Amino acid sequence: MAGSREPLPVELGALYTVEERLETFRVAHCSWPFDSGPCTPLKMAEAGFYFCGTDRAPDWVRCVVCHHDMEGWEATDDPRSEHKKHVPNCGFLKIKDPYKITVENVLDLEKKALETFIQKEKRELEKQMTAMVEGMKEQLAHAAAEAKTNAQNT
Ligand SMILES: [Zn+2]
Repeated sequence: MAGSREPLPVELGALYTVEERLETFRVAHCSWPFDSGPCTPLKMAEAGFYFCGTDRAPDWVRCVVCHHDMEGWEATDDPRSEHKKHVPNCGFLKIKDPYKITVENVLDLEKKALETFIQKEKRELEKQMTAMVEGMKEQLAHAAAEAKTNAQNT
């Protein structure tokens, strides 16, 4: 199949094209603070970021691959360098030209994104389990202390 190195049609792989990510900056509540310089929506999209902003975090973006959240952008920030600084081995940064993303790239990125997601979930689950165990220990200690007090009182 000769098509595997063709640029990816937009309908495959959500937010994997620059244009799709740029589109996320066009939502009604987006008032991106920079329309010139290195930190424009286009530069953000080219660096793998899409817009997640809210009223409280108007410049919140997330990487489509490593899912790293970033905000607090300054007019002189270069999105790609910042991305690299925070997540040096993000799979997105290994793509040389974000406009020529291939099906192969997307499959690879999907895999990496999934791995990142699983690791995040795993850490979250571990945190919850630890908290649960700690809670149970406390309850047990409490129950043991109560039983002791009851035993002494009888
Ligand atoms: Zn990334």
